Amino acid sequence: MTTAGYRRIIVKLSGEALAGDMPHGIDQATVDRFAADLVAARALGVTLGVVVGGGNLLRGATAASHGADRTVADVMGMLATVMNALALESAIERLGASARAMSAVEMPQVCETYERRAARRHLADGRIVLFAGGTGNPFFTTDTTAVLRAAEMGADAVLKATNVDGVYSADPKRDPSARRYDRLSLDEAIERRLGVMDLTAFSLARDHRIPIIVFSIREPGAVESVLSGRGRATIVGG
Ligand code: UDP
Repeated sequence: MTTAGYRRIIVKLSGEALAGDMPHGIDQATVDRFAADLVAARALGVTLGVVVGGGNLLRGATAASHGADRTVADVMGMLATVMNALALESAIERLGASARAMSAVEMPQVCETYERRAARRHLADGRIVLFAGGTGNPFFTTDTTAVLRAAEMGADAVLKATNVDGVYSADPKRDPSARRYDRLSLDEAIERRLGVMDLTAFSLARDHRIPIIVFSIREPGAVESVLSGRGRATIVGG
């Protein structure tokens, strides 16, 4: 048990974070840093799953706004998440820890297909499971996937990694009067339309009483800090 009291968590890592300082793509140094962070968090004794986004490579809605077919673009977005998950899986295993990428989109030559009971077994065996391919359906996001997998895996919380240290009333980079919340309810997050997650993700979290911990991934060791109750974060729900 960690200081913050979480035994089983799902970390949501956006694709954008994996690009590091680059506008697009996968920055290997950043992947290696996140892998080390996840391995350190796992060493606290917490059971750890990770839902990886794909926005560093392709976002369906953006591609559709340039004329692509939305459902095809979303499938491409889901494939992007698989690439990111493979990069993380490989980086975690290079550190000597055990990881398993599982894709909601079947591609047996590439990685295991997501199956709830198999994923639970991997977690129970101490592996870090990388949930790839989103929900496997177009028109959803990997934020929603994170809450969905948290519900399926019986996780205590979703740790949503961002570039800022919590949820603010407005964009703190643009509005100096923006207020930072330490805690807020999922109802408040939905009513105030706080953009940190989409409404589908928030309402699923509310229905299943899964708190979302919003924290900054910018500093090395961030996941471990939040789990041990040291790091700054906003707790939404719970
Ligand atoms: N996506 C999808 N269904 C899902 C999850 C993701 O179609 O269940 C697609 C969608 O096109 C999305 C892309 O995959 O834009 C990448 O995911 P997301 O935008 O959530 O990644 P992030 O913003 O976290 O990097």
